[in-house]
Amino acid sequence: MANKMVYYFGKTKTEGKGKPKALLGGKGLNLAEMTSIGLPVPPGFTITTEVCDQYYKAGKQLPAGLMDEVGKAIKKLEKELDKKFGDDSNPLLVSVRSGAAVSMPGMMNTILNLGLNDISTEGLAKATKNERFAYDAYRRLINMFGDVVMGMDHHQFEVAFDKIKKKYNVSDDTEVPAEGLKELCEAYKEVYKQHTGEMFPQDPVAQLELSIEAVFGSWNTDRAVKYREIEGIRHLLGTAVNVQSMVYGNMGEDSGTGVAFTRNPNTGENKFYGEFLINAQGEDVVAGIRTPQPVAEMPKWNRAIHKELLEVKKTLENHYAEMQDIEFTIERGTLYMLQTRTGKRTGIAAVKIACDLVKEGLIDQKEAVMRVDPNALTQLLLPSFKTTARNAAEVLCKGINASPGAAVGKPAFTAEEARERKDAGENIILVRRETSPEDVDGMSAAVGILTSTGGATSHAAVVARGWGKCCVAGASDVEIDEKKKRMKVHGQTLGVNDVISLDGTTGEVMLGAVETQEPKLSGDFAKLMKWADEYRTLAVRTNADSPADSKRARDFGAEGIGLCRTEHMFFEPDRIIHMRSMILAEEEKERRQALSKLLPFQRKDFEGIFKAMAGLPVTIRLLDPPLHEFLPHESAAQKEMATELGVKASDIKKRIEALHEANPMLGHRGCRLSITYPEVLEMQVQAITEAAINCGKKKIKAHPEIMIPLVGTYKELALLRKKVEETIASTVAAKKFDGDLDISIGTMIEIPRACLTADEIAEHADFFSFGTNDLTQMAFGYSRDDIGGFLPDYLEQEILDVDPFQSLDQTGVGQLVELGVTKGRSTKKALKIGICGEHGGDPSSVEFCHRVGLNYVSCSPFRVPIARLAAAQAAITNS
Ligand code: ADP
Ligand code: MG
Ligand code: MG
Repeated sequence: MANKMVYYFGKTKTEGKGKPKALLGGKGLNLAEMTSIGLPVPPGFTITTEVCDQYYKAGKQLPAGLMDEVGKAIKKLEKELDKKFGDDSNPLLVSVRSGAAVSMPGMMNTILNLGLNDISTEGLAKATKNERFAYDAYRRLINMFGDVVMGMDHHQFEVAFDKIKKKYNVSDDTEVPAEGLKELCEAYKEVYKQHTGEMFPQDPVAQLELSIEAVFGSWNTDRAVKYREIEGIRHLLGTAVNVQSMVYGNMGEDSGTGVAFTRNPNTGENKFYGEFLINAQGEDVVAGIRTPQPVAEMPKWNRAIHKELLEVKKTLENHYAEMQDIEFTIERGTLYMLQTRTGKRTGIAAVKIACDLVKEGLIDQKEAVMRVDPNALTQLLLPSFKTTARNAAEVLCKGINASPGAAVGKPAFTAEEARERKDAGENIILVRRETSPEDVDGMSAAVGILTSTGGATSHAAVVARGWGKCCVAGASDVEIDEKKKRMKVHGQTLGVNDVISLDGTTGEVMLGAVETQEPKLSGDFAKLMKWADEYRTLAVRTNADSPADSKRARDFGAEGIGLCRTEHMFFEPDRIIHMRSMILAEEEKERRQALSKLLPFQRKDFEGIFKAMAGLPVTIRLLDPPLHEFLPHESAAQKEMATELGVKASDIKKRIEALHEANPMLGHRGCRLSITYPEVLEMQVQAITEAAINCGKKKIKAHPEIMIPLVGTYKELALLRKKVEETIASTVAAKKFDGDLDISIGTMIEIPRACLTADEIAEHADFFSFGTNDLTQMAFGYSRDDIGGFLPDYLEQEILDVDPFQSLDQTGVGQLVELGVTKGRSTKKALKIGICGEHGGDPSSVEFCHRVGLNYVSCSPFRVPIARLAAAQAAITNS
């Protein structure tokens, strides 16, 4: 038998309760759940996502039998509500709403008041004794149906509406009298006919069928596809369709509609937060046509409804044990719930809500750790404005603090412009009256978003918050001239070259670049991290090459340095010159001379880092990049270098030519350098050893781990290990040091052959550290520097799900890692193994590292808390 296609929800029956979200979509499932826990939900039914899938598989054909099932559900609705579809005295009206398993704000289109035609509109007027209302509902239907189902341009309807408003000499929609709305419906039908070549369909069932198809169609519009792409939403069947009996928020001053969060989605504060509009329907709140009132002001209008909403908040939070984002309508003083879902929130709010829910006994600590998306912590780790700079800044105006953070950039006035200029390397603030789903790509490109209309639940606010992007909404003092690419605020005109600063936490817009500051780990954030540490088994280290970075990383909880890149220490002006003279040297003796000048610098750097890490392990990678990276590539700079070193510019050119490699990433670098120039290794190891000795003398514990990069055969490691040991011994002897030194010697595993022969290599290594950047490069054969040329095509055509340099390719490269771990530990059971490089801070890669039994991950200082949380979640999920 074919699968059930339609699930009813209502007083008589709730079929969808407990069914998978993947089948009913989030909206459908939650409508069923809300119905089942006794909340006032208008009855209706859900058509499954499987039907959407079948629709596309059949070349955009609704499956046979669907409309029969739909017809039966409509019959049930008619019985429950004692109304009839298309009736001339008391018609049943429905909304047709999309809803996939993952919420996609504003991506899919809703049609309201479906079932109205010339006859049933009269019926509705009679039944409600409200002609004005009936024709208002009808004109909305024709408009929405035209937009959504027929793809008409909204503008054509607006022109007709403006004519009527002018005729009746009013400016607001709500002021148009019944007579005017009647005329408007006639005008709308005319517009509809002109632009579609057809009459507006009078048969309700035909309206319904076309609408269902339109919802399915909207699953694959450009903007929906783009949203899923940006959000990384994949492997869904499609959208469900919800058909729900209508309730009316536009029946007069005792009716209204609103949207709310059960807690503040910006701060997490446990306070009902939302907006409502009196005498309005559906999308009016979000569309920013009229300015809504905050829910806090509702008691002045209707105290009982406000109280009932607070009860609903409690019921919902107890049921879902989670903050909810709700949509509701009040029809003549009666409250109806139209939607609930897990509320999107900022990272700051996510942490606070998780901690508060534990306090309130709704969830336990483990659940709290699971609740926060590790990547959302980025917001708590982002800079904010420096107080002094903020106080001194010129505030241009204030809008609504829609999504926290600090953003500094130049205004762009369209989404395309934002994308282009961002790609050209600018920091962009997207400035729009209000954003719409067409703008998402530009919003994603911008560092911050500023709108002049729309509230805290407008499109811009909701999307920005979901992404953790700074947003100031509804800054009504900003006048935007999109064509001339400029904005005016209180008489000041700003264009594309003026810098502005947005404070998403206060809603202020400031002139110029206001200085930002680093974040701190404290309060609820620190508490959550402590809970995370109780569950995780994976250690978290950081990649750092300076005492300042080391200190910052330790403040964020790093338990060591997993990668200290020594080449970064050679680039400062007083050092690079010695490095260059070393590279130019023909003879070993000259090379040693230059190196001896670098030694004190290195020693000092290491001492600083050891001190900052206070006895925690510090993995130091010996020189890794090819030497040409240290030489200037332009002839002017080469001439300068020649004067500085007192050599001929032509000699420099010659050396550069000699060092030139066709594929430098596969070339003379890593341990290959130490094989050719052992004196470089000697200098670095001597510096490390002396630094450790100096620390020892000052009673500072130092725990260096010397890491030899790019090993492909155990012979390289065996040879270099011997050199390292000899250098340590001779340094100790020269310094006449008799204290304890704790130095281990290991290797980076980043060449596929090293993974394949890890058992041999392990015999010569105290530790392994997977360099998954190079390993990915060599396993795929992609050059990291050139991947931009084809990666977008690969992602678009779904050849790759994600950029393998950002998230570890677990199926392929992962096998090499796993093999390296197994083989390495087969010869050395207690081999300490970690990972360094970009992947160490990526939550899904961290989970992989946990599963294959690594000891630690290492990532950039700012990602340390993210990795700690991801490691805890990995441990909980896999236990
Ligand atoms: P979105 O996914 O864009 O939020 P919805 O399907 O939730 O779209 O519809 C948007 C709004 O339309 C709802 O918030 C609600 O105000 C209104 N609406 C939808 N269905 C009904 C209904 N049956 N009765 C009254 N209003 C409705
Ligand atoms: Mg909605
Ligand atoms: Mg490498």
